[in-house]
Amino acid sequence: FQPWNDPSQPPFIEFRNVTKRFGDFTAVDNQSITVYEREFYALLGPSGCGKTTLLRMLAGFEEPSEGEIFLDGRPLTGVPPHKRPVNMMFQSYALFPHMNVADNIAFGLKQEGMAKADMAVRVEEMLRLVKLQDFARRKPAQLSGGQQQRVALARALAKRPKVLLLDEPLGALDKKLREETQFELTDLQESLGLTFLIVTHDQEEAMTMADRIAVMDHGRVIQVATPAVIYEAPASRYIADFVGDVNIFEGRIAHLENGGLTMTTAAGFTVEVAEMPQGVARPQAGETIWFAIRPEKMVISHERPQNATTNLIEGEVWDIGYLGDVSIYNVKLDSGDVVRATRLNASREVERPITWEDRVFLSWRPDAGTVLVR
Ligand code: ATP
Repeated sequence: FQPWNDPSQPPFIEFRNVTKRFGDFTAVDNQSITVYEREFYALLGPSGCGKTTLLRMLAGFEEPSEGEIFLDGRPLTGVPPHKRPVNMMFQSYALFPHMNVADNIAFGLKQEGMAKADMAVRVEEMLRLVKLQDFARRKPAQLSGGQQQRVALARALAKRPKVLLLDEPLGALDKKLREETQFELTDLQESLGLTFLIVTHDQEEAMTMADRIAVMDHGRVIQVATPAVIYEAPASRYIADFVGDVNIFEGRIAHLENGGLTMTTAAGFTVEVAEMPQGVARPQAGETIWFAIRPEKMVISHERPQNATTNLIEGEVWDIGYLGDVSIYNVKLDSGDVVRATRLNASREVERPITWEDRVFLSWRPDAGTVLVR
């Protein structure tokens, strides 16, 4: 399922050069975004970057200052929210406290004038969908956070929208429940064949659930790609840093080859990169660039790797964090820089344990990191 790589696929949701200003503040700055049918698409970025504003414009709660939004080929300009085949689920759930679960779910259907018998069937179906059959008569206050979240989801899905908009849908849940619910949401999205557009500032949430992620900063989308590409080949230092843990080294190009390059870092070691990622501007010799490498791509060892001269640094273990599945090692180089490596704890059985103040080597393969030009 990769409709974004299939030129015959028509876009399903399309923001075309959309700008949104509040007074003289630009919340969304001339953005074009394409989402395909049945896609799980995440808008990821820090608070205030304009994610929610994009959702609200699609839902019809705000009109763009400039540009246009299309759904299934039709412009949405002037279409009131309740006439759009789009529904929104809010972080606060916005359940009616005085209504029971069934009435909360039925609310939108009632407003639409659905016949009572049909409504009962639909509510039953929704209760089954979110596994709350036994809770139909309870009030929201008598439910756990996770159950309230499912009521909100059922209510948002009851009118069978083509697109579900989710604004930080899991923000109020604790970590374990959040992780479970992430998988429930993706299962539901797939089985119902809906298009989900989710807003989140939580990179793990976006990575776990989304087919594609749009990373946003200051009203602009700065990279759109699959979770793996965002993580493995981030387009900038900002993205590398925002999504996951990363070591970033500033340096200069020593040597440009076919596809790859050699760079000298300010920290005093040499990096050899096998291949520049696709779509990244080719840096010029002498230009400042950055090398980004994830901690788990660093091999940490007491032994110096044989024959290695590049992609090798040496330092002292400064700090260790035990996380159960992995341990994190902060290694202080002679230059004073601190580099982070992780190692699976399962591999400890075969190797000598690494401990504080040990002298260690960090090495990596030429395809393990990324060169960044901004
Ligand atoms: P969060 O995760 O905090 O909701 P966000 O990325 O969703 O952040 P938006 O809610 O889209 O951000 O807001 C983007 C910017 O636009 C913010 O700086 C916000 O203060 C501003 N903004 C949003 N709505 C309005 C409004 N109605 N009037 C004035 N400014 C607004």
